[in-house]
Amino acid sequence: MIDVKFKPWINDLPEYIPGKTLEEIKEKYNLEEVYKLASNENIFGPCQEVLRYIRNNTDYINYYPDSDCRKIRKKIGSKYNISTDKIIIGNGTDQIIEMICDSFIDAGRNAVIADPTFLIYEKSTLKCGGETIKVPLSNFKQDVESMVKSITNETCLFFLTNPHNPIGTNIASDELEYALKKVNKNILIVLDEAYYEYLPEEEKVNTLGYLSKYKNVVILRTFSKIYGLAGLRIGYGIADSEIISGLNRIRLPFNVNSVSQKAAVIALENEWYVEEIRDKICNEKEKFYSTFKKEGIDFIKSYSNFILIKTGRESKNIVEDLLKSGFIVRPGENIGIPGYTRVTISLPKINEKFLSTFVKIFNKYYK
Ligand SMILES: *Cc1c(COP(=O)(O)O)cnc(C)c1O
Repeated sequence: MIDVKFKPWINDLPEYIPGKTLEEIKEKYNLEEVYKLASNENIFGPCQEVLRYIRNNTDYINYYPDSDCRKIRKKIGSKYNISTDKIIIGNGTDQIIEMICDSFIDAGRNAVIADPTFLIYEKSTLKCGGETIKVPLSNFKQDVESMVKSITNETCLFFLTNPHNPIGTNIASDELEYALKKVNKNILIVLDEAYYEYLPEEEKVNTLGYLSKYKNVVILRTFSKIYGLAGLRIGYGIADSEIISGLNRIRLPFNVNSVSQKAAVIALENEWYVEEIRDKICNEKEKFYSTFKKEGIDFIKSYSNFILIKTGRESKNIVEDLLKSGFIVRPGENIGIPGYTRVTISLPKINEKFLSTFVKIFNKYYK
C-alpha cells in the first residue's frame, strides 16, 4: 500500500489496450511467422531514402535535437504554402492531442467526441479532470449534426476524425462545413486527419483552406500512418498562429527527437512514395471487398488502410483462431465496436494469406 495520493480521477482513466506484439504471439503459439495487422501501420514500411538516412546518421545523437523543429516545420510550411508559425510538431499526433487537452480542458469543461472514436481524445480529456460528451455514430458515420447539437456552455473542444478510426468512414465536405458554421467560435474544432493521405483524390477536402476563414480549427496529421514512421513518433498540427503559440507555451522542450525530425523531412522530399502506397492499399482493399462479397461476409467500406469486418457473436473465437494462425488483428470489443474485427491492409502476399485463413475460420463458425 502507498500513502501518496493520485488525483482522484486518475484511477478511472480508460485503458488503451494496444495490439499484441509479434514476440508475444510467436512465443505463446510457437509460431515462426506472425503478422501484426492490428494498429494500422504501413506494413510496407517507409521509403528506402528514409531508411538509408536513419542507418547512416546517428552520430549526433549525443546532442539535444532542435527544440523548435525548424527544418521539418519549414518543409511542411513549403509543402502547404503556410507560414511556420502555424505549425507545431509533436511526439506523435497523440502528444499534440494531449497538449490541446492540457491547454483547454479543466474540471467543469468538456469535449464533444463521437462514440466510438480514437481513444486518446477521451483519455486526454479525462486526464485533465474534464468530461466527454459522447455522441453515437449514425450508420457507422460520425453524426456531425447530433454532435453539434450536444454542445453545452462548458464545451471547449470538438473532435472530428476524417477518415474515422476505428470505422474507416469519411466526413463529406458539406458536413465539415456545417460543423464549422454551427460550432461557436470559442470552441476549438480538432480535425484529426491521421489517414488523410489514404483518401482517394476526389474525397479529399481542402481543410487547410478552412484556416483562413476559421480561427478555431486545428488540423492534425501524422508520419505514423502512410509515411511508415510510427516507431519514430512524429506528427504535426496546423492552426492559427495564436493557437500554435498557446500550445507551444505548454510544450516540453526537445519533445521530438533529432532522428525523427530529419526522417520526416526526407519522407516529405519523397512524396511519390505516399501516392504509391495509397494506390497499392486501394488495390489490395478491392481484393478484400471482392472476397468478402463472394463469401457473404459483411464489412464496412473504408477510406483508410484498414477494414472493419462483421464477425458477430463468434468474434472472440475468430480473433483467437486468427492469432493461432499467426495474424494479430484488433478485436472490436477493445475499440468500442463489439461484433466487428479490424484488420490492417498489408502486402499482397500477406493479404492473400490472411484472406484465405480468415474465410476458412469464418466459415468454420458460420457455415
Ligand atoms: C494513428 C492515429 C493517430 C496518430 O497517432 P500518432 O501519435 O501520430 O502515432 C491520431 N489519430 C488517429 C485517429 C489515429 O488512428
